[in-house]
Amino acid sequence: MKIPKSHPRYDSLMAREALVEGVKEGIVVRQGLIAHGRGEAFDYLIGEVSIEPAIEAEYAAAGRLLKARHPVISVNGNVAALSAKETVDVALGVGATIEANIFHRTEERVQKIVRKLKNAGAKEVLGLDPDARIEGLDHPRGLCAKAGIYSADVVLVPLEDGDRARALKDMGKVVLTIDLNPLSRTSRVSDITIVDNITRSMPSLAGFANELRGDDERIDRILSEFDNKKNLSEVLKHITRRLTKLESVSFD
Ligand code: ATP
Ligand code: MG
Repeated sequence: MKIPKSHPRYDSLMAREALVEGVKEGIVVRQGLIAHGRGEAFDYLIGEVSIEPAIEAEYAAAGRLLKARHPVISVNGNVAALSAKETVDVALGVGATIEANIFHRTEERVQKIVRKLKNAGAKEVLGLDPDARIEGLDHPRGLCAKAGIYSADVVLVPLEDGDRARALKDMGKVVLTIDLNPLSRTSRVSDITIVDNITRSMPSLAGFANELRGDDERIDRILSEFDNKKNLSEVLKHITRRLTKLESVSFD
């Protein structure tokens, strides 16, 4: 489908097309389309822009990844379909390992995600031969790579399920996420929650990592000032203010 650039919902329609294409390629599962719909609904309420709290969280996440001993970025089908190249840019920018790690696991789908990331410029992608388990999760949801998620100190898990985010926290990891729903369990349990669309967030993360690299003093200041609970409450305040304003607008 050809979408004219002038269309007011261009970005949103392009993301839908990318996901539909992802389903055809066998990268995205149908459940992933539903998860995207939930994200879209929150994006609509937010106003489909990166709001100030999101930018703050993106700076904090970029700094945390740069400071990590062994940062890992977990990539599922939706992430690969929407932001393969941008995810590779972030990984290269912060020196992170990429691991394909999916909720509805089949070997074939992991292979396709790995191929997609390699075509987008990734040198190495883990996930094909899982040799460890995330404690507390049933098989195959808990499968992961020893050299990847299992031994990471900091994990970026965009568009993640709440149970897995909690299990990673319970393993003592610093958990960073990108999730448009500020109320999800993932958003609540993570150390740094970026409430932004992944299509806007990954490019910002790559840019902010470039800006912060080498400036440890600034990174430390950003991290010491960042408060995830407060950030999430700022997001909810933004939505509330926006809806209150819209409430007084007449639609006829
Ligand atoms: P949880 O399990 O954390 O309580 P959930 O069950 O509602 O959340 P999942 O399907 O497990 O949701 O995870 C997908 C999450 O990703 C959702 O919270 C959704 O809002 C978010 N999401 C979907 N698409 C995007 C996107 N393009 N950008 C950012 N977040 C997104
Ligand atoms: Mg869930």
